[in-house]
Amino acid sequence: MPPAAKALRKEVRAFLNEQMPKSVSSAEKARSWSGGAAAFSKLLGQQGWLGMTWPKKYGGHERSYAERYVVIEELLVAGAPVGLHWVADRQSGPLMLRFGTEEQREFFLPRIARGEAYFCIGMSEPNSGSDLASVRTRAHKVEGGWRINGQKIWTSNAHSAHYMIALVRTGEAETRHAGLTQFIVDMKSEGLTVKPIANLTGESHFNEVFFDDVFVPDNRLVGREGDGWRQVGAELAFERSGPERYLSSIRLFLEFLRVAGPNPTELEKQLIGRMTAEMWTLRQMSMSILGKLAAGEDPAVDAAIVKDIGTSFEQELPRLVQANAREDVTLETGDAFDDTLSYLLQTSPSFSLRGGTREILRGIIARDLGLR
Ligand SMILES: Cc1cc2nc3c(=O)[nH]c(=O)nc-3n(C[C@H](O)[C@H](O)[C@H](O)COP(=O)(O)OP(=O)(O)OC[C@H]3O[C@@H](n4cnc5c(N)ncnc54)[C@H](O)[C@@H]3O)c2cc1C
Repeated sequence: MPPAAKALRKEVRAFLNEQMPKSVSSAEKARSWSGGAAAFSKLLGQQGWLGMTWPKKYGGHERSYAERYVVIEELLVAGAPVGLHWVADRQSGPLMLRFGTEEQREFFLPRIARGEAYFCIGMSEPNSGSDLASVRTRAHKVEGGWRINGQKIWTSNAHSAHYMIALVRTGEAETRHAGLTQFIVDMKSEGLTVKPIANLTGESHFNEVFFDDVFVPDNRLVGREGDGWRQVGAELAFERSGPERYLSSIRLFLEFLRVAGPNPTELEKQLIGRMTAEMWTLRQMSMSILGKLAAGEDPAVDAAIVKDIGTSFEQELPRLVQANAREDVTLETGDAFDDTLSYLLQTSPSFSLRGGTREILRGIIARDLGLR
């Protein structure tokens, strides 16, 4: 970490100490990038901690990737409510920076950097999840733009996002990878319907999104028509390599430390050592991808490795903690440790699904190693 990033860490900690509402429960903090608060997103924008690496002329702050990493790490560890702007800052903005038109950059990036424009990811469809190239939602060319018909599913935060970057078919179905295009869709468009889907905890973070002749003007096509597959590949490297891919269960680890107290048992010591060592290794792996992203490379395979090992770790953590918890664990509500454990036991199965499943990531890794 360069000295500037170390100094920034202190600044972020002081800010969080002051700005994180004291009444937020541990289980609420465990939601972090699955939750969200508009006022907090704006506050981060004012601090200059959104769009951190982007050029100043687009509202960015020209900070280093390492500095951005530090901010993200501290926000996740504190359990800050960052879900609303998360996708826009992590991948929609960088996508536009790389493939978007000048007009798109000038319009969208400053809004994202101010914490005012939220995006969602319109990739998955019923029957097109792992096999993303089979998407059937289609855009037809019309005067001045395109009309989109079809359906997306599992779209996180579609109900709170202002825009979706949708991957849709513009070419013939037979061409698969070649006939896909990305569009920025205004979520308030006529003909667009969002229907919530409840998950195991009863919350509705993801949704079905229906497109009934939704009009998208020509200037909202991202990159080149038919080039969507290549662009999505680049976007996924941003989506899969960050610290959120191994820190989703960090709140429980902190709760475990709190309950273990200053005199942990031998078993607790072993577990603390093991989890710390794994987390540190993952951090080194995740940070090594930063350099490649900063150099404009597409570290898709490296990112797949981080996500596969990282999500395995953040899924294993609640199970290990449960197995080694002290006897008074009840999983009833009211206790910070129990609530956090209960929440993560219910949500952690999804960690290896969202952003690409374990099996698909291992397929990518195996192909790169020449094994398939
Ligand atoms: C919490 C959460 C949030 C999500 N948010 C979004 C979002 O915002 N936007 C979005 O577009 N999508 C989102 N998704 C969807 C996610 O990307 C898909 O669920 C995922 O890609 C898997 O697709 P699927 O559900 O259609 O399962 P399928 O593709 O049907 O897979 C079912 C099972 O078969 C296995 N499988 C499939 N193909 C192969 C193969 N070739 N080799 C070996 N095994 C295989 C898979 O690994 C999986 O275990 C989200 C999912 C979750 C759980």
